[in-house]
Amino acid sequence: MTFKDLGLHPALTDKCEQMGYIDPTPIQKRAIPAVLSGEDVLACAETGTGKTAAFLLPILHGLQNNKNFRGTRVLVLSPTRELANQTEAVCRSFMPKGVTCVAIIGGAGYKRQMEALKKGVNIIIATPGRLIDYLQQGVLDLKKVNTLVLDEADRMLDMGFLPPIKRILQAIPEKRQTLFFSATMSKEIEGIAYSMLNDPAIIEVSKRGKAAATIRQTAYPVAPQFKMPLLLNLLETEDYDRVLVFTRTKRGADRLAHILEKRDHKSNRIHGDRSQSQRETALRAFRSGKTNILVATDVAARGIDIDSVSHVINYDIPEAPEDYVHRIGRTGRAGNTGNSITLFTLAEEHSMKAIEKLTGEKLERIHLPDFGGHVVLEKKAATPLRRSRSSFKRSGRRR
Ligand code: AMP
Repeated sequence: MTFKDLGLHPALTDKCEQMGYIDPTPIQKRAIPAVLSGEDVLACAETGTGKTAAFLLPILHGLQNNKNFRGTRVLVLSPTRELANQTEAVCRSFMPKGVTCVAIIGGAGYKRQMEALKKGVNIIIATPGRLIDYLQQGVLDLKKVNTLVLDEADRMLDMGFLPPIKRILQAIPEKRQTLFFSATMSKEIEGIAYSMLNDPAIIEVSKRGKAAATIRQTAYPVAPQFKMPLLLNLLETEDYDRVLVFTRTKRGADRLAHILEKRDHKSNRIHGDRSQSQRETALRAFRSGKTNILVATDVAARGIDIDSVSHVINYDIPEAPEDYVHRIGRTGRAGNTGNSITLFTLAEEHSMKAIEKLTGEKLERIHLPDFGGHVVLEKKAATPLRRSRSSFKRSGRRR
């Protein structure tokens, strides 16, 4: 099946070809026809599957065939600024002439965003906070929106964006097409999705909470004091192009990046306490290859799509097992191979088990005694102890 077979406008299929998209990915094969037919969509797809084009292409097809409109028709909600910027970039690369779009995100200047809103920009890609800001100022008219996309909805809900999303829903027409994309699908998320969707087409291209099959996943048991030496050792021995290293805290990310810089690794860091321009500079440098190690926290790294991230290293094991799937989804994207390496201490053994339970896979464990790699013996079925003569006698007496 080709993009042409999916019924997309030739201008869009030509652009797919220019971008090197030869065949549609599984999510694209299933979501594009559903969106084109006007259905609501509830899609659960692992990260890096091509979901952005899966919703943008059919949306742009609709706009391509109907350029005589004014005002905002499409609203895409994203959990993070980085993801919104990225989606805007993908949108611009496919966008037909005459269609306009803007990213409405916090941390960026108001002037350009305000001008675009005043002109009645056709597509808004926004993080909920800044959008609410404009709604409250009364400068945003969403009454003509006919397509709403919730991208990475699970993360938006994790980040406490449910109240702003509800507020935004009140500002857009009830009669609309809603596309709900989520990497994971818990009962809670499903419940919220169904409250927003109308008889949706359900698209699940992978098992819930499953990582891409193209990622080699390994785990290193390590003593806490050896985590840093082990990381440095891995960076020296692994054959990598670009490495994304995850830490649990912002301070941890700073500390780690500082040590890597001292060791002459070309690295940078992104987390919530860094300014928007610092985050963008770090991402640009990582994308262009100026740096090849990026240290990040979960929230900041959400949705990052950078080609050829060869390795994801979980320096700190993620707090929630779902985050593991999100993290390692930064590598092995669109059919490329990738590596994920997780360091975990004895005290974190239970988190490791939770990850294995969610993904349904037993991770390959590499024990390096030099780094305190502990071995946890699997519990065997208890074999009955042979009773000693005396205990036999005692039990006999009791009878
Ligand atoms: P996404 O899941 O939207 O973040 O996309 C992950 C990556 O897959 C991005 O780098 C896209 O450019 C790429 N991609 C999306 N669709 C295709 C396709 N049909 N063929 C090849 N690469 C694709």
